[in-house]
Amino acid sequence: MPRSFVREARTRVGPKRARILPIIERLRAEHADARIALRYRSDVELLVSVMLSAQTTDVNVNRVTATLFEKYRRPEDYLAVPLEELERDIYATGFFRQKARAIRGTMALLLEDYDGRVPRRIEELVRLPGVARKTANVVAAELGDPQGVVVDTHVRRLSQRLGLTRHDDPVKIERDLQRLVPREHWGIFPHLLIWHGRRVCVARSPRCAECVLLDLCPSSRL
Ligand code: SF4
Repeated sequence: MPRSFVREARTRVGPKRARILPIIERLRAEHADARIALRYRSDVELLVSVMLSAQTTDVNVNRVTATLFEKYRRPEDYLAVPLEELERDIYATGFFRQKARAIRGTMALLLEDYDGRVPRRIEELVRLPGVARKTANVVAAELGDPQGVVVDTHVRRLSQRLGLTRHDDPVKIERDLQRLVPREHWGIFPHLLIWHGRRVCVARSPRCAECVLLDLCPSSRL
């Protein structure tokens, strides 16, 4: 889009600080069911699910964990089998060698340093092998203590389209969103963007005519 159009569009919708709460309210009403799509029954299952979800879909992870979590119930269980057996059990999620090593390393550290429990703080979570900031953010938010804003491909695309950030780098996007989104919404905000991104503001051709954010969005195509 030419620069003059971008400027004109931004002026039309107003500053992002004035738009952020209406955006959140409307998305909350529109996607009342927005929540993490991964299925888990405990903190350990949550952590393992998020680790497995790298480079694959949540649907695929749920398919694998439906049987995985019947066999592996406690951190000790992941260490009690040969590495190759765990690799086979998570094979369908892809990158199974890397993921199996990361899960075993994480379970060993949980047992060693945290009494087998999943820590709550981001700085502790990122110490676990194979747990990067995004995984840590998702886990902390799901455990009820969001300390950042999760930025995945949908959050990045929608934040840019809605004019909430000019950046492309997830770390810088997260910083922009942390400054803009009130802290009490940090946990739900990514889910709202993810569900809106899946259902309406899809990557290739966003369905602007059906979008509740039409008058708040500088990228609307109408
Ligand atoms: S108006 Fe269009 S581009 Fe903007 S958020 Fe809605 S669907 Fe996406």
